[in-house]
Amino acid sequence: MQAVLPAREDLNAISRELENAWPDEVLCWAVQTYGPTLAMATAFGAEGCVLLDMLAKLGPKAHQAHLFNLDTGYQFAETLQLRERIQNKYGLHIELVRPEETVEQMEARLGGPIYHTQPDACCRMRKIVPLRQTLQGHAAWISAIRRDQTRDRANHSIVEWDEKFGLVKISPLASWTKEDVWAYIIANDVPVNPLHQQGYPSIGCQPCTHHVQQGEDERAGRWRGMAKTECGIHSK
Ligand code: SF4
Repeated sequence: MQAVLPAREDLNAISRELENAWPDEVLCWAVQTYGPTLAMATAFGAEGCVLLDMLAKLGPKAHQAHLFNLDTGYQFAETLQLRERIQNKYGLHIELVRPEETVEQMEARLGGPIYHTQPDACCRMRKIVPLRQTLQGHAAWISAIRRDQTRDRANHSIVEWDEKFGLVKISPLASWTKEDVWAYIIANDVPVNPLHQQGYPSIGCQPCTHHVQQGEDERAGRWRGMAKTECGIHSK
């Protein structure tokens, strides 16, 4: 039987209790608490792959969670191939959520791509709007963010109310480091994007993801040359 959903005012206390829990314990709590009303959006970054591995190992109830990828139409072929590998390895279904307009329709309407001229609008149309629509009807969603990735992510709790999308946000890896993530990947033979080995530590859409040089920040290749550091999903 699904547990009674926690009240919004209790989320801070729950988050404090889970602050030192292992991420799969946080996921277990999320699955037990939210059941099929739990969602997870993944771009198949290293952190997302870790969470999918942990989730799959929690058993049938975890497989009820609604897993999806925001398929903007601009993703790398390697990312979509990784989805297939993960589905096959773990027996999970990861839905491809697409915007109403195809890339071709949008570019024809706007006179070409806008990712280099209006990236915020592009992210809004290709990511934020479909995400908002897909999260409707869910009580909670899992995010793969780490606090040490960006300024926007630094103040996330393990469990919190997500004002932007109107549901509970659960970030089991919030306190993990990049080293923790990669140690888990190696120890558990988690499938990851081959582009990580080719100079792309953080992978988003192809037009907005560039090589990172040694010593640069792991997200330095995202929207390189622009002030933008986030697509807006995790900005409060
Ligand atoms: S990351 Fe780039 S291509 Fe992808 S939705 Fe945002 S601006 Fe558009």
